[in-house]
Amino acid sequence: MDDKDLLNIIAIDDNGLILTQLKLLLSQSYHVNFSGFTNGPDALSFLKQHPTDLIFLDLNMPGMDGIEVLRHLSDINISASIVLLSGEDNNIIKMAKNLAQMRNLNVIIGIDKPITAGQIKQLIESLFKLPHHKSSHLTQRAFNLEELKTAIEAEQMCLYLQPKVTLSNEEVIGAEFLVRWNHPEFGVLSPFYFIDLIEHSDLVHDFSILVVKEAFEFIEQHFELLKSLTFNINLSVKNLEDLKLPERLAELASTYNVPTDMIVFEVTESLLIENLTQSLDVLLRLRLKGFSLSIDDFGTGYSSIKQLSQIPFCELKLDRCFIHDCAIDTDKQAIIEATAALAQNLNLKVVAEGIEQQQDLVFLGKYNIDYGQGYLFALPLEKLNFLKSIESQTNYNTQSRQALLRG
Ligand code: C2E
Ligand code: MG
Ligand code: MG
Repeated sequence: MDDKDLLNIIAIDDNGLILTQLKLLLSQSYHVNFSGFTNGPDALSFLKQHPTDLIFLDLNMPGMDGIEVLRHLSDINISASIVLLSGEDNNIIKMAKNLAQMRNLNVIIGIDKPITAGQIKQLIESLFKLPHHKSSHLTQRAFNLEELKTAIEAEQMCLYLQPKVTLSNEEVIGAEFLVRWNHPEFGVLSPFYFIDLIEHSDLVHDFSILVVKEAFEFIEQHFELLKSLTFNINLSVKNLEDLKLPERLAELASTYNVPTDMIVFEVTESLLIENLTQSLDVLLRLRLKGFSLSIDDFGTGYSSIKQLSQIPFCELKLDRCFIHDCAIDTDKQAIIEATAALAQNLNLKVVAEGIEQQQDLVFLGKYNIDYGQGYLFALPLEKLNFLKSIESQTNYNTQSRQALLRG
């Protein structure tokens, strides 16, 4: 780890001994800037002024407890990773973690006290292994719409591809296009930093057309290699306000010679359900043009079975918050089982998003889950690397077919 990897860490615990212990454990092995607080209000005023990467938060504190601190952290849009500490039973930590995730906070783990050096090591290393680790120097910097417009005009937005595989034999059957901002100063930025701003502005219309054009151009250029795959492209719900969208997308497909049945458009569940009647017109006509539709981040909204059956979806992507640790979490198992059964009844393919751990993959194998995406199989890849991975799979398939034919 070098200087730019200095971690800004704070801990909030009414027990001063825990703060001292954490400080010691962290500074023994890592380059950290550590501040400890024995109460929530002091920590919150510090957080408003100082960029922070990681927060250790005790749930049980007199005065403002940990749950209340989480609410305030959400109000001030804290993007730091949060570790919950508690001496209480595991269920409380689990429920607090769920609540925090519902508030869009990035709670990564709950730890029972006392904390061990091993737990700290595992935690810091997993934090650094995460792709696009959100450095505090950047998270505190909000981009504005003008900067985004300029970036789009300067062609700084580009697409990565994350392979989608069959769960039965991990064969790549397609990929999802994911946008990245090639920022001249900060390097490659994930959508986390800018997509909300775009999706809440009128820029989203031109932006999505640009994404679709770049995706179609890529498919056209490498059609021979890619023709048996399908490609997912994210749309914003706001795009569905444009009644001409189906015609525009079909025209683009024809201009770039991309068969519409190679394309799956994804829309996020939670936003879609809020604007259903208006969106349904456009969704139905996209299907009529031959495109497929996928419901993204399923489980984060509250769609009823009736609503789901009214929308012509072909695929359901189960949000990664239900996948991570599903092997050991019985609540998640119940949700996965019910979703798989629902999808089967509605004739939808199921994609498990964000598979990171082998044990979760093994568990998912018990259910009718068709496809998976996740770091366990592949990170989002630059176009060239994606092409290489498809080429090697194609070569491997050809060789094994020839070997089979030769007997
Ligand atoms: P999404 O559509 O649900 O995409 C999946 C996200 O999960 C991607 O984040 C992907 O990198 C990440 N991911 C994949 N596997 C794993 C895993 O194993 N573990 C973890 N922790 N994460 C994993 P990314 O690329 O940062 O994109 C975030 C969101 O931004 C996307 O979520 C999508 O809603 C939005 N987005 C991305 N590209 C576009 C775009 O072209 N247009 C629009 N409108 N939205 C986009
Ligand atoms: Mg998606
Ligand atoms: Mg998703």
